[in-house]
Amino acid sequence: MKDLKQDLQQRKQQGLYRSRKILQSPQGREIILDDKRVLNFCSNDYLGLANHPDVINSFTKATRQFGVGSGAAHLVNGHTQSHHALEEELAEFTGYPRALLFSTGYMANLGTAQSLCSKGDSIIEDKLNHASLLDAATISGAQLKRYIHKDYNSLLNKLKGCTSGEKLVSSDSVFSMDGDEADISIMVNHCHSHDARLMLDDAHGFGVLGEHGRGSLNHQQISTTDVSIYMATLGKALGTAGAFIAGSDELIETLIQTARCYIYTTAMPAAVAQATRTSLQLLVKENWRQLSLTNNIQYFKKLINQTDLNLLESNTAIQPVIIGDSQMAINISQKMFDKGFHIAAIRPPTVPKNTSRLRITLRADHTEEDIEKLVVSLTASVN
Ligand SMILES: *Cc1c(COP(=O)(O)O)cnc(C)c1O
Repeated sequence: MKDLKQDLQQRKQQGLYRSRKILQSPQGREIILDDKRVLNFCSNDYLGLANHPDVINSFTKATRQFGVGSGAAHLVNGHTQSHHALEEELAEFTGYPRALLFSTGYMANLGTAQSLCSKGDSIIEDKLNHASLLDAATISGAQLKRYIHKDYNSLLNKLKGCTSGEKLVSSDSVFSMDGDEADISIMVNHCHSHDARLMLDDAHGFGVLGEHGRGSLNHQQISTTDVSIYMATLGKALGTAGAFIAGSDELIETLIQTARCYIYTTAMPAAVAQATRTSLQLLVKENWRQLSLTNNIQYFKKLINQTDLNLLESNTAIQPVIIGDSQMAINISQKMFDKGFHIAAIRPPTVPKNTSRLRITLRADHTEEDIEKLVVSLTASVN
């Protein structure tokens, strides 16, 4: 039996120990963490919808109509009219024939791969894909092949190496720890010429990129007919919880019949679905949040590029500053916390060895002054 105590001790010594801070406020530009008021530079609530009054109102109203728990799986009697309406609205918003809700993005990815692939098939993934996509391949029983990050010749070689079985290519469309974007049109071409299905995980593009936040396909001017499986989460820009898969009628029906993470789990609360419908309406009605976020990203990049900090190339709200050593990354994150800024240090195995980083995420409601103060403090803390 392995010695858990010793393993944990070793983790600490390597600067890889993870611990949780306690949040004592809603998500926002400013939060209270561990009794301290700090500027929030690491939430995925990019648009500030997690604490929007209209979203809260829809949630509480729905709890009076449907209660709190949904009480059963979708296929039993947990699938309310709110879930159903949200699925129809998500399909329309993304431009796909159908959409299917999952309780989390992790489960949407696992369920889809397991439903479509099994032993003898191949799942081909970008090396820097989110852990849930990698785990999805494992749970499906298919062979996992990983290509060099955004190296589409490497993808092509992997595709050529598949001589039998189904081929599923999956990728983050915005890479969650790096903030850079997949080149979807090249992926579409390679998948098309090799009879492979393409799945994109748009957790960090949906709600943020494209017109009114319609997502990465809209942003990169890709037709939905070219990407057979589109996944996005609701717990990030939409400010609620859960996720969905969008695709053809046949895809969605197949998932309903066979995706174990869909069938054998309790439906998300109806109130979450109802709150998400309101977030979606806000996206359709107003786009000032996306515009403000875009301005903040530009402003942050402009300021940071005048320093000697090592910023990864990204045009999205995810702006990682590479530190390298894990312990150093934690120390800087702690120093920043003491100065009133919350920025998480991201370390292996979430990111490759020696690329520990401060993963800064920007929000629509950050002010220029917030960003100026961040860059000044960060420069002082790193040097
Ligand atoms: C957050 C995330 C997920 C998981 O979604 P949850 O709803 O949080 O389980 C999947 N893929 C990517 C790229 C993510 O960033």
